[in-house]
Amino acid sequence: MSTFLSAELYSGALAAVGFCFGLLIGSFLNVVILRFPQQLYRRWSVESQDILGIENKATEESAVTLAWPASRCPKCGTRVRPWHNIPVLSYLFLKGRCASCSASISAQYPLVELLTATIIALLAYFYGATATTFYSVILACCLIALAGIDLKERLLPDQITLPLLWLGLFANINGVFAPLPDAVLGAIAGYLSLWGIYWLFKLITGKEGMGYGDFKLLAALGAWLGWELLPLVIVLSSAAGAIVGVLMIIIGGKDRNLQIPFGPFLSTAGWIALIWGDNMITWYLSAFTF
Ligand SMILES: [Zn+2]
Repeated sequence: MSTFLSAELYSGALAAVGFCFGLLIGSFLNVVILRFPQQLYRRWSVESQDILGIENKATEESAVTLAWPASRCPKCGTRVRPWHNIPVLSYLFLKGRCASCSASISAQYPLVELLTATIIALLAYFYGATATTFYSVILACCLIALAGIDLKERLLPDQITLPLLWLGLFANINGVFAPLPDAVLGAIAGYLSLWGIYWLFKLITGKEGMGYGDFKLLAALGAWLGWELLPLVIVLSSAAGAIVGVLMIIIGGKDRNLQIPFGPFLSTAGWIALIWGDNMITWYLSAFTF
């Protein structure tokens, strides 16, 4: 009885630490989602000007980094005070408005913080201090950043998707999530399957259904999960994407050619497959075999 209690206490304490840690990481992910695309656009613009032989107009001082400048209200430009920058609590205390001009603050901030904190707390609770928790936390953070950037900018940066692929293969050297051969095949099959769907769609309709970032993200998920779970990821993400697309056309009155970013669906489906994939496939096989 007492060992059971102390084990429960230990898991609870780990979860609490994970939650607080997750709030801080979520706060950092908000900065990544906001600023990393800006940095990329700036770099691409400088490189394009170099190639075209145009004198660079952007000066070094205007370069934004993840750490500089300090956060400001986008409307009135007032610097965000440290006590107005506490994850979730500040948002609630300020009732979602800037302290000086009361412009509304995007709900993205507390949502990303709460989502990250909840995921890390649950991982710490169920998997304890293990390699599974360590790698899953990194994967979750990268997927949240990718989903956020894709939602806002329709972009899945190589700087996140490609290292994520290598890290998945690295974790699976010791088979943390899948045997290494399955992971290597998963990376290849992940890329090729969406690449094939892309070209098929393009040949039939003449339109581009998704971007190369989507292929790289599914390759990365294949490296983490192994090839066996890829059909589940594709089915879940396409079904969810189709449902949301139809709802947006019916309820939101959006037009048929509306482009919906696929990255958030791939990220969510990949995460669900990582945690529940094996159970879902076992259930499916037992329900449909006689
Ligand atoms: Zn303001």
